[in-house]
Amino acid sequence: MFARTILGDVDPTTLGVVNAHDHLIRTGAGEVYLDPDHLLDDVDKAVQEAQSFVSASRRWADSGTIVDMCPMNCGRGIDELVEVNNRVKDLHVIAATGFHREKVYLETRSHWVSRYTVEQIAELIIADIREGIDRHDYSGPLVDRSPSRAGVIKVATEYGRITPFERKCMEASAMASIETGCPINTHTTFGTCGLEQAQTLISLGVPPDQIAIGHIQRNADVFYLGQILETGAYLEIDGTYRIKYQPDSNRVMELRELGRQGFGERILLGTDSGKRSYQKAYGSVTGVDFNPAVDGPRLLAEGFDPSYVQDLLVNNGQRFFTFRKDA
Ligand SMILES: [Zn+2]
Repeated sequence: MFARTILGDVDPTTLGVVNAHDHLIRTGAGEVYLDPDHLLDDVDKAVQEAQSFVSASRRWADSGTIVDMCPMNCGRGIDELVEVNNRVKDLHVIAATGFHREKVYLETRSHWVSRYTVEQIAELIIADIREGIDRHDYSGPLVDRSPSRAGVIKVATEYGRITPFERKCMEASAMASIETGCPINTHTTFGTCGLEQAQTLISLGVPPDQIAIGHIQRNADVFYLGQILETGAYLEIDGTYRIKYQPDSNRVMELRELGRQGFGERILLGTDSGKRSYQKAYGSVTGVDFNPAVDGPRLLAEGFDPSYVQDLLVNNGQRFFTFRKDA
């Protein structure tokens, strides 16, 4: 039983507080082209964010884990991520492979996803998981593998639709997950297509409890969220202090209702602080530490059962990010 961090495989019970979707480093690529606020290339600032997260985590556990959800060809900087990890005590970092939604790859007719077979794409994902992440982030013909391996696969879809490009990425990701036992954590756009993501991945053979449907808090429709949970998949709830979209009370309401319905062991928390304007180190009032620093105390203050809060912050993530095979 292990979780795969960038410094090696660890006993999942040592992961501490698990931030299931966040961003410490993004060195460039399509999202940065679309909005320069996405550029997260400052190692010192990433250290600061990670340090705040670990400090806040100590109230709940001995350590903390940040799952950096930057996927292939989206500005992954594995060497920078390792440097951050080495500078912060009691921190684990899990790095992603897999794909973002089509839009962030800009014009995709000539992208290698459009040219390679599903099997060839699956092989690239598997190599990230088994051998090590390409230092050049699969952005060019030369591949130079870091010893750091990926511990989660990302899958993503557009607003209200799954493009053929994204469907192909899902097929390759499912193949790689089944082959390696690596979990899949998704991106939904504004909380749409969550149910379809779960159904598609399950139909491709991925065990439901190795799928987490992400950013799903944006669709604050508890009946809909329950339908996704009925498939056996996890939900990943982030978008903390994203007041331009909805107040944090919506997330609290979702957590309360879903806990009441008996789904409390299949909910993960994250913050998705994937922009400079979402990180304290770059001047914001909010950041990567939000779950243990703000959410946990607030949930207790709102009368949540302390054991449920511990499940949300610690236990659920430790179970979800455990590999199913000797990979
Ligand atoms: Zn993200």
